[in-house]
Amino acid sequence: MREQEKKLLENLLAEGFEIVKNRSEVLLPAPEGRTTMCPGGCGHDLTDTILARVIEDKVKKYDDLTERGFELFFPVGCEVFGYYWFAHKEGVGADREHGIDSNECAHGRATSEATGYKLAMPEKIVITRQGDGDFAGIGLADSLHTFRKGVNLLVIYSNNAYYSMTGAQSAPTTPKGVVTKTEPLGSSENPIRMAEHAALLDGTVFSVRVAPIDRSSYKELKHWMSEAIDWQYKNRENPYAGTCLIEVLSPCPVFQRNKETPTCEDFIREKMLPIYETGVFKNKIGD
Ligand code: SF4
Repeated sequence: MREQEKKLLENLLAEGFEIVKNRSEVLLPAPEGRTTMCPGGCGHDLTDTILARVIEDKVKKYDDLTERGFELFFPVGCEVFGYYWFAHKEGVGADREHGIDSNECAHGRATSEATGYKLAMPEKIVITRQGDGDFAGIGLADSLHTFRKGVNLLVIYSNNAYYSMTGAQSAPTTPKGVVTKTEPLGSSENPIRMAEHAALLDGTVFSVRVAPIDRSSYKELKHWMSEAIDWQYKNRENPYAGTCLIEVLSPCPVFQRNKETPTCEDFIREKMLPIYETGVFKNKIGD
């Protein structure tokens, strides 16, 4: 196991996320006991692991979420096979009572597809799991209009600064100067800060950015997921109650590590945090 992966696992275990040892009932026993993410400490894995634990807690807390209470939307990108490892009541994990259904979306369209679903079935807890190429690039219009409208859903957005799934081309989130496959001399454009943009829109009720690079930030990520889901649950009669965004500065061990930044933590600290400030940009949902 690589150093980076070992550290992530140690941190997760230290914060009580035993889920990584004994996979949550919410996560299917994926092929060979792992997801389809690259090995080595991928941030998508980390975020999905924490989300699975939060969903598990909510299904125990709210009886009426047991029967397919969660609707997850996975678009194209590194989350493309999310439906495969999040338990699917009618799929491979049909014998389990975990209350999740999943949808695979066209590239960039997760918030639009989730909007349609939420308007038809407001009682469901609707969550999209998007990457930066999808949420901030190809799907930018869909994303901003969802927040403008204030559709009552939660976007959990992993920003790793590249179009990673297709080989680390420049994305709208790539910090200036960062070397990519399409810009070997360094990105020449300004990146977009989605948490700040979302906060400006009237339909947004919550917007936060978290960098899960230490133990306390894992707890923070779990806390905000839990708060946003509780809020959606309490307001489930109103499909326009407001939209929540959790942006995660996400480790990508395949493309963020190089001579200049030997670990993903180095990349996030040195290349991303100077541009992507962490913190809460809007909060109308409570603590
Ligand atoms: S390319 Fe990077 S972000 Fe995508 S699955 Fe692999 S490690 Fe994770």
